[in-house]
Amino acid sequence: MPGFEFFGEEERKQIDDVMGTGILMRYGFDAQRKGNWKAKELEQKISETFGSKYAQLTSSGTAALTTAMAALGIGYGDEVIMPAFTFVASFEAVISVGAIPVLVDIDESLTLDPNAVKAAITSKTKCVMPVHMCGSMADIDALKNICKENNLILLEDACQSIGATYKGKYVGTIGDAGTFSFDFVKTITCGEGGAVLTNNEEVYTKCDGYTDHGHDHQGVDRGADLHPFVGYNYRISELHAAIGVAQIGKLNNFLSIQRKNHALLKSILSAIPEVTFRKIHDEEGDSCTFLTWFLPDGEITATVVAEMKSQNILAGNFYWFDNNWHYIRKWDHLKNNKFLNNQSEPLQQQLKKYSAEPFTASDAIMSRCISTAISLTWTEEQISEKGEKIAGVIKKVLKDKYASV
Ligand SMILES: *Cc1c(COP(=O)(O)O)cnc(C)c1O
Repeated sequence: MPGFEFFGEEERKQIDDVMGTGILMRYGFDAQRKGNWKAKELEQKISETFGSKYAQLTSSGTAALTTAMAALGIGYGDEVIMPAFTFVASFEAVISVGAIPVLVDIDESLTLDPNAVKAAITSKTKCVMPVHMCGSMADIDALKNICKENNLILLEDACQSIGATYKGKYVGTIGDAGTFSFDFVKTITCGEGGAVLTNNEEVYTKCDGYTDHGHDHQGVDRGADLHPFVGYNYRISELHAAIGVAQIGKLNNFLSIQRKNHALLKSILSAIPEVTFRKIHDEEGDSCTFLTWFLPDGEITATVVAEMKSQNILAGNFYWFDNNWHYIRKWDHLKNNKFLNNQSEPLQQQLKKYSAEPFTASDAIMSRCISTAISLTWTEEQISEKGEKIAGVIKKVLKDKYASV
């Protein structure tokens, strides 16, 4: 799944270029850097690889989301509709621009349920933010239509689905803007880093300034730049970008290995009639970082998880329902308004609702769901062995269950 599994000479060579000059900053020092512009080079490669007119690198995927929202004009009091199953960074970014995260149910694709999105629209809604979770895509056509009909912004959080496509287009390039994360466990990594992708020149220009204190990058040097608006420092360093230049060259190889390993594991689990699989809106476009499978009910699933744990084969398998990071059920800090500083009244009111409001439809799905991370380094023998062990646990639990009735 993550790029760090295939790390070596290519990354070292790129880092050596930067070490050769010592210019670690992406802007300025034109003469000293001897032609090394790693961040610029990576931005260009991202544009070419994914077919996005513009790409703006950032210091993280969270910073990319924050930057995209600011550039799209999402701010104080605006409501952003997003899924109740995602990585915490998605709502962190919404809150960071003063907007309000409106969390709604997911469906069996583990992404936004379009009907839940429709039901959540109010006069304050400004943006719909699907999250392409676990390597696969949201129901983009349906969400695009909803955005069109209601005059809303579509911002794709594609942070963990780099390389996935939907009807031939890369996720992250379809909405008004999209974001990638290059943190250490993502499909390709910079160590830390992220990117905003957009086809809109104005949005891009705003991202370019926003990530660098509002600099317009039009001056003869940094001191001469104008500042048409207030920005922050969300810059990536040349060292991180250099790693990304090496990693993006390996992306297609990563994807083809993932797809092969995913297919083999899926064929093993498919032999059990009680196992079903995540709905994928465009099977061909699955980046296959995870194989996500369902069992008949929550009780069986929890028992399978416990049994896998006791057999020491749980590592790499994620039961998100009980996980502290990815599902609203365990986001107590958010639900209880645990902030270090004052937050707006409308935000606090909204968050309070989540302790009372049940996410019944999502619970019914997440409680039955296990995602197996697909490693790039597995051999076919290892996949067979893993698959058979998991299958053995499932069969045992099902047998015990049916023996007891
Ligand atoms: C990883 C991730 C992010 C943020 O990425 P960082 O680079 O770790 O800040 C945002 N959204 C999702 C869905 C992610 O998985």
